[in-house]
Amino acid sequence: MDCIFCKIANKEIPADIVYEDANVIAFNDLNPQAPVHFLVIPKKHYESLNNIDSDEVFKNLFSAIPKITKKLGIEEYRTVVNTGESAGQTVFHIHVHVMAGREFKWPAG
Ligand code: 5GP
Ligand code: ZN
Repeated sequence: MDCIFCKIANKEIPADIVYEDANVIAFNDLNPQAPVHFLVIPKKHYESLNNIDSDEVFKNLFSAIPKITKKLGIEEYRTVVNTGESAGQTVFHIHVHVMAGREFKWPAG
Protein backbone atom coordinates (compact mmCIF):
# COMPACT_ATOMS: atom_id res chain seq x y z
CA MET A 1 0.00 0.00 0.00
CA ASP A 2 1.30 3.41 -0.92
CA CYS A 3 0.93 5.09 2.46
CA ILE A 4 3.58 7.49 3.70
CA PHE A 5 2.86 6.81 7.38
CA CYS A 6 3.00 3.03 6.86
CA LYS A 7 6.40 3.62 5.30
CA ILE A 8 7.49 5.64 8.35
CA ALA A 9 6.14 2.92 10.68
CA ASN A 10 8.06 0.29 8.67
CA LYS A 11 11.22 2.46 8.67
CA GLU A 12 11.17 2.54 4.88
CA ILE A 13 11.43 6.31 4.96
CA PRO A 14 13.09 8.35 7.70
CA ALA A 15 11.31 10.36 10.37
CA ASP A 16 12.37 12.06 13.58
CA ILE A 17 10.94 9.43 15.92
CA VAL A 18 10.14 10.58 19.47
CA TYR A 19 8.48 7.41 20.78
CA GLU A 20 7.85 3.84 19.73
CA ASP A 21 6.27 0.77 21.29
CA ALA A 22 4.76 -2.44 19.94
CA ASN A 23 1.62 -0.74 18.66
CA VAL A 24 2.32 2.92 17.96
CA ILE A 25 5.02 5.22 16.73
CA ALA A 26 5.34 8.99 17.20
CA PHE A 27 7.45 11.36 15.11
CA ASN A 28 7.89 15.07 14.61
CA ASP A 29 5.68 16.69 11.99
CA LEU A 30 7.53 17.69 8.82
CA ASN A 31 5.73 21.04 8.78
CA PRO A 32 5.35 21.95 12.46
CA GLN A 33 2.56 24.31 13.50
CA ALA A 34 3.98 24.86 16.99
CA PRO A 35 7.41 24.67 18.67
CA VAL A 36 6.49 21.08 19.60
CA HIS A 37 4.44 19.21 17.00
CA PHE A 38 4.51 15.47 16.72
CA LEU A 39 2.13 12.85 15.35
CA VAL A 40 1.14 9.59 17.02
CA ILE A 41 0.03 6.78 14.70
CA PRO A 42 -0.90 3.13 15.08
CA LYS A 43 1.60 0.92 13.28
CA LYS A 44 -1.37 -0.82 11.66
CA HIS A 45 -3.01 1.11 8.84
CA TYR A 46 -6.44 2.65 9.47
CA GLU A 47 -7.59 5.32 7.07
CA SER A 48 -9.27 7.47 9.69
CA LEU A 49 -11.15 7.49 12.97
CA ASN A 50 -14.10 6.05 11.04
CA ASN A 51 -12.26 2.82 10.23
CA ILE A 52 -10.93 1.76 13.61
CA ASP A 53 -12.11 -1.75 14.43
CA SER A 54 -10.96 -2.13 18.02
CA ASP A 55 -11.07 0.02 21.15
CA GLU A 56 -7.50 -1.11 21.80
CA VAL A 57 -6.35 1.23 19.03
CA PHE A 58 -7.69 4.26 20.92
CA LYS A 59 -6.10 3.07 24.12
CA ASN A 60 -2.77 2.50 22.43
CA LEU A 61 -2.79 5.88 20.67
CA PHE A 62 -3.90 8.06 23.56
CA SER A 63 -2.08 6.30 26.38
CA ALA A 64 1.20 6.95 24.54
CA ILE A 65 0.66 10.72 24.57
CA PRO A 66 1.22 11.52 28.27
CA LYS A 67 4.23 9.22 28.29
CA ILE A 68 5.79 11.29 25.53
CA THR A 69 4.81 14.70 26.90
CA LYS A 70 6.09 13.78 30.37
CA LYS A 71 9.41 12.81 28.85
CA LEU A 72 9.50 16.17 27.06
CA GLY A 73 8.55 18.05 30.25
CA ILE A 74 5.26 19.27 28.74
CA GLU A 75 2.09 19.57 30.82
CA GLU A 76 -0.16 21.56 28.46
CA TYR A 77 -0.77 20.66 24.85
CA ARG A 78 -3.32 20.57 22.05
CA THR A 79 -4.39 17.24 20.53
CA VAL A 80 -6.14 17.16 17.14
CA VAL A 81 -7.49 14.37 14.95
CA ASN A 82 -8.64 15.53 11.53
CA THR A 83 -11.15 13.15 9.94
CA GLY A 84 -11.91 13.65 6.27
CA GLU A 85 -10.80 16.24 3.74
CA SER A 86 -13.15 19.01 4.85
CA ALA A 87 -11.81 18.63 8.40
CA GLY A 88 -8.25 19.04 7.14
CA GLN A 89 -7.11 15.42 6.83
CA THR A 90 -4.40 15.15 4.17
CA VAL A 91 -2.74 11.86 5.12
CA PHE A 92 -5.18 8.96 5.22
CA HIS A 93 -3.51 6.92 7.94
CA ILE A 94 -5.02 7.97 11.24
CA HIS A 95 -2.81 10.21 13.35
CA VAL A 96 -3.14 12.32 16.46
CA HIS A 97 -1.45 15.71 16.28
CA VAL A 98 0.15 16.79 19.56
CA MET A 99 1.21 20.45 19.68
CA ALA A 100 2.74 22.55 22.45
CA GLY A 101 4.95 25.52 23.17
CA ARG A 102 2.60 28.34 22.22
CA GLU A 103 -0.90 29.64 23.00
CA PHE A 104 -3.72 27.92 21.11
CA LYS A 105 -6.97 29.59 20.19
CA TRP A 106 -10.41 28.06 20.58
CA PRO A 107 -12.46 27.30 18.56
CA ALA A 108 -9.89 25.87 16.17
CA GLY A 109 -10.04 27.36 12.66
P1 5GP B 1 -3.44 15.99 8.46
O1 5GP B 1 -3.53 17.22 7.60
O2 5GP B 1 -3.74 14.74 7.67
O3 5GP B 1 -4.23 16.06 9.74
O4 5GP B 1 -1.95 15.92 8.95
C1 5GP B 1 -0.92 15.37 8.18
C2 5GP B 1 0.35 15.88 8.77
O5 5GP B 1 1.40 15.06 8.32
C3 5GP B 1 0.70 17.31 8.35
O6 5GP B 1 0.84 18.12 9.51
C4 5GP B 1 2.00 17.16 7.58
O7 5GP B 1 2.91 18.21 7.83
C5 5GP B 1 2.54 15.84 8.08
N1 5GP B 1 3.31 15.08 7.12
C6 5GP B 1 2.98 14.82 5.83
N2 5GP B 1 3.92 14.05 5.23
C7 5GP B 1 4.87 13.83 6.18
C8 5GP B 1 6.11 13.12 6.17
O8 5GP B 1 6.52 12.51 5.17
N3 5GP B 1 6.83 13.12 7.32
C9 5GP B 1 6.39 13.76 8.46
N4 5GP B 1 7.18 13.70 9.53
N5 5GP B 1 5.24 14.44 8.49
C10 5GP B 1 4.49 14.49 7.37
ZN1 ZN C 1 -0.79 3.61 6.40
